Amino acid sequence: MERVLNYIGGRSEKPSTNEYIDKIDPRTNIKQKEVASSGPQDVDNAVAAAVAALPAWRDMRPSERGRVLVEVARSVRSSVGRLGDIERAKTGKPGREMAQLIDLTAQYLEFYGGIVNAMDGDVINVGPNYHIYTRRDPFGVVGIILPWNAPLHQAARAIAPALATGNTIVAKPSEFTSGSLVEFARLAEEAGLPAGVLNVVVGMGPVIGPAMANNLAVRKISFTGSVRAGQELGKIAAERILPLTLELGGKSANIVFDDADLDAAAKGSTTAFTWNSGQWCAAGTRLLVQESIYDQFVTKLLASVATLRVGPDDDASYGAITTQAQYEKIQAFFEIARRDGLTPATGGKIASDPALGGGWFIEPTIYTDVTNDMQIAREEVFGPVLSVIRFRDEADAVRIANDSEFGLSAGIWSRDIGRVHRVAGQLEAGRIVVNEYGGGFVQTPTGGYKNSGYGREQGIEALAHYTQLKSVIIRL
Ligand code: NAD
Repeated sequence: MERVLNYIGGRSEKPSTNEYIDKIDPRTNIKQKEVASSGPQDVDNAVAAAVAALPAWRDMRPSERGRVLVEVARSVRSSVGRLGDIERAKTGKPGREMAQLIDLTAQYLEFYGGIVNAMDGDVINVGPNYHIYTRRDPFGVVGIILPWNAPLHQAARAIAPALATGNTIVAKPSEFTSGSLVEFARLAEEAGLPAGVLNVVVGMGPVIGPAMANNLAVRKISFTGSVRAGQELGKIAAERILPLTLELGGKSANIVFDDADLDAAAKGSTTAFTWNSGQWCAAGTRLLVQESIYDQFVTKLLASVATLRVGPDDDASYGAITTQAQYEKIQAFFEIARRDGLTPATGGKIASDPALGGGWFIEPTIYTDVTNDMQIAREEVFGPVLSVIRFRDEADAVRIANDSEFGLSAGIWSRDIGRVHRVAGQLEAGRIVVNEYGGGFVQTPTGGYKNSGYGREQGIEALAHYTQLKSVIIRL
């Protein structure tokens, strides 16, 4: 049986615990691999490797570091088949989604490999007799903790800016989807990244996370995952005054006004809750529809959703649910919705087509006439499940959209440009997408308001989150 091991200081390393976790293929429910269940000792070894590699990497010219990242991007692009196969077997994604995510993985490396050359400080004028300037220094060793829903894409989003700015890294992929990041680290080294600059420790979050946060040589952590785990990490970080970027969950509102192109909105709103099987932090899972077009729009939406085909093959609209726990959690929400008096307008069950074998597939599910106080409208399901909610007017839409503990993303569908800007300004979310629901550009900063987190990934903005600002004050 193939085993996924740690990658530390340029070498494959068995876990010091000698313990392994089973990895099941979500497309078939059959055991596929064993994954190292590492311990604190493995984290300390990886941090030591990152500390040793730091001076040479930090002191390279930004243009040289950038060139290495662009080479890594090239290698990712030429290994798209291999990386895609590893990732598909772990996540259950169809080929189309996978190709999109690997392309974005390479784009992060290309973008930060280039833009790091434009990272400057400022000169601050306080009058004669002083020359004052600011500069941006890397933190040193950065810890990166990752979820399972888009493994390589999430990894590259944090790894690329952290490396570009001269940090070295200890990364921890989700225990459910570890293989592609280990392979990525190997490829990166072949492409010119020095050994020890990117280390991967594989294992369980409650073991690896605290070990990472408690190692004093780790100077910053970027965490992408659930609110609950983010809070656990935050407690340790508070004790240590350890800077964090937290990219957490969402329950994003997608608002359709009566002046929108309703056909485009129906199609876009379908993608909003089903892309990646709904396992998407920014998924538009609260669909707010103006009451004057409510019935008409729901009819269009149901017609759009009826065209979806669930499965593991390349052309499927969306694939499997990646973990068994998540598969069961989604089904538990069907029961919660039923107890709240809701009947699904479509779906509300697992996809039982015999051609899908024993895999973890869920039908696209829509609940209509949901009110925003119901549990299904308040909690993140992380599956292809949509709550449709009515609103009266613009003010009502904004009030309902903002009545959530989350604030990751939001969608607006309208032809009224004044309304679009007004509502975009009033929504409490880190990213607003208008007249489509996607907007996955590496150049655009992304991150949460409220419980969806703090700090920003993506865009030039991320360079600031992987560096610390220093002022140099010179008396002339
Ligand atoms: P999770 O929090 O269970 O796991 C995320 C990572 O944290 C994993 O590597 C896990 O092993 C680790 N972890 C678990 N407990 C930990 C602890 N106590 N300390 C440190 N690390 C710990 O989340 P998940 O189920 O893998 O991912 C789904 C969640 O991630 C959803 O809530 C989703 O919205 C969120 N997410 C957010 C973004 C974003 O950009 N905001 C992107 C993707 C996913």
